Amino acid sequence: MVPRRVSIFGATGSIGQNTLDLIRRDREAFRVVALSGGQNIAQLAADAHEFGAEVAVTADPARLDDLRAALTGSSTEAAAGAEALAEAASRPADWIMSAIVGIAGLVPGLAALAHGSTLALANKESLVAAGPLLMETAQRHGARILPVDSEHSAVFQALQGEDIGTVERVVITASGGAFRDWPLAALARATPEQAATHPNWNMGQRITIDSASMFNKALEIIETHEFFALAPDRIEVLVHPQSLVHALVGFRDGAMMAHMGAPDMRHAIGYALYWPERRMLPVARLDLAAVGTLEFSTPDPERYPALGLAREAMRLGGLAGAVLNGAKEHALTAFIEGRIGFTDMAGIVAEVLEAFGRTPGHINAAMTLDNITTIDRMARDAAERLIAGAGVGRQGAGRQG
Ligand code: NAD
Ligand code: MG
Repeated sequence: MVPRRVSIFGATGSIGQNTLDLIRRDREAFRVVALSGGQNIAQLAADAHEFGAEVAVTADPARLDDLRAALTGSSTEAAAGAEALAEAASRPADWIMSAIVGIAGLVPGLAALAHGSTLALANKESLVAAGPLLMETAQRHGARILPVDSEHSAVFQALQGEDIGTVERVVITASGGAFRDWPLAALARATPEQAATHPNWNMGQRITIDSASMFNKALEIIETHEFFALAPDRIEVLVHPQSLVHALVGFRDGAMMAHMGAPDMRHAIGYALYWPERRMLPVARLDLAAVGTLEFSTPDPERYPALGLAREAMRLGGLAGAVLNGAKEHALTAFIEGRIGFTDMAGIVAEVLEAFGRTPGHINAAMTLDNITTIDRMARDAAERLIAGAGVGRQGAGRQG
């Protein structure tokens, strides 16, 4: 059997390491083309060495010499920076994992699709900011995008053999995050360390904090809208503390198909890796009798204002998803750095979105990579002005629009 050529962007992260874990268990079936990482040069080099990667790319040009040194004696080429990432994503591969965190995943994802590779998409930020551009690029080049986010993999699996036209609604679930049971008044004082502990999933720091604020689910509502071309009012969110039902698809005959599984990302990654086949995967099997109870409830909009912001971004349309994502990424960084409080994040994103909505010239611009990059920068600048206390209304996005 000819090994399948695979590349992993964001290989050193949580999704990347889980992907390599699956590939390691089925070593002969794969040939690794490119691996990418950020500051964790030792991990990147060790993986590149172990899997005999053609090229290893660090996102940080300042770390190129370190990477070269760490790769001494191996046949792996070292590269660094955004252009090197795009070049590596252009190298012929059958399957590419997009697992960079944040908008930085967009350009390598587009490059992979433009070369006809199948893109396994964990990087939800690119779909939120540029869904139609990704979809159209895939279509133009005969490439395929497979969902890796657990909820979207669940919906995708429930839809196999079904006609999307018969779908009445899709329900994605949320654990409720670290602060589900905290008194509302305590949220403003929550620390990044407290927000970065997830009740059920083991993930990267940023997505874990986004789970506590529900910005993760906000992005996932838009991801569902873009991925499955479903109207916003057909997409619902339920809080489900056990994280065992990942999503439900409701059809027009009233039937609902629920997808269940242990909270282990190797399931969704493995499904995308072997699709359309189902293979044996090393994930825990559910013992429902031991679980006993599954709970579901409607998310409280006061506790989770991020969900309403996703609806607002979809109502505004155009490039509003890029505004939401850019402002959110910037606010999240500021929270991690201790510059703002936990509940300030949603307030900042709301104000930025509102400012762009008042003068919609920018969000109604064509969906090109240039325009997305520009509006992403503007949304971050607007968020920063709010954080610095200057006020977005006085000198922010509105005036520039
Ligand atoms: P992580 O923080 O563990 O890893 C992120 C990876 O991206 C690392 O390899 C890092 O080096 C790289 N990276 C960070 N900034 C970069 C930049 N500016 N340029 C290039 N590379 C950069 O994150 P993660 O939890 O693995 O999440 C990765 C993506 O998958 C995110 O989009 C996240 O929303 C999505 N996702 C993750 C999970 C999960 O279980 N972890 C589940 C669903 C979706
Ligand atoms: Mg998810």
